[in-house]
Amino acid sequence: METVRRLINNNAVRTAVAATLLTLPTVAAASAQEAASANELVVYLIDHQYVSSTEMATIQNEIDDIFREEAAVEIRWVLEDSPRRRLHANELRFLILASDGTRWFHGPSNVIGLAPHDDTGVGRNCFVFYRQALWFRQQAVLRCREATRARTQASAAGVAPDPSIDNLAPAQCGERLPSLTPLVVARAAAHEIVHILLNKLDHSEAGLMRESFDITEWLVGDEAPFRLQPQEVTALQELLRQAAPTASSPSTH
Ligand SMILES: [Zn+2]
Repeated sequence: METVRRLINNNAVRTAVAATLLTLPTVAAASAQEAASANELVVYLIDHQYVSSTEMATIQNEIDDIFREEAAVEIRWVLEDSPRRRLHANELRFLILASDGTRWFHGPSNVIGLAPHDDTGVGRNCFVFYRQALWFRQQAVLRCREATRARTQASAAGVAPDPSIDNLAPAQCGERLPSLTPLVVARAAAHEIVHILLNKLDHSEAGLMRESFDITEWLVGDEAPFRLQPQEVTALQELLRQAAPTASSPSTH
């Protein structure tokens, strides 16, 4: 019974997604074969989770923002398709998987995204495990509820709430929860995209390319902890410039 209902729900979601995708800024696979310009990145997004159209819009907008705001890189989205050839340096696939990824790691894991490198050292696929994003959001929900309950109890007792509650979750944490799952997917994907593009195996001290994110940060609503660092911006711009078919004139600095 439960299975049947789920299948029906999935079909409804699927139809909704298909309808909305038509209105998103996408290009047909044929025109995606056109060479990308020097500030352009082609992302082939394959969604095995069938996320809702609202979540899909949030995922794409957040990834667009991460690359556009700091690096002035524009993403050309190609949905549910990718070329049957080796991808160029300015192209990659982003797959949203329904699984929790544990089959990849042989046991429980807190890994949300993954960018496997092939035997040449350069992978072109980045994977995000949707169920891990859901789990991450659930941890944030629990923290937010705990902090809210502590504030309510303090208020009822007529005392000021313990300042340490802010470390658990800020007062407005509930406002962050509705968009948290797609934001986790988007930022995990952007993190893996940078790993792939820069063939970067290590992590940065700050920003998007940190090894892990603290749950409390997601409840504050500040974007800065999830943005690119200057040296990453420089490296990305240089890479896309070199990958463009007609190399623009060399930089003077
Ligand atoms: Zn990483």
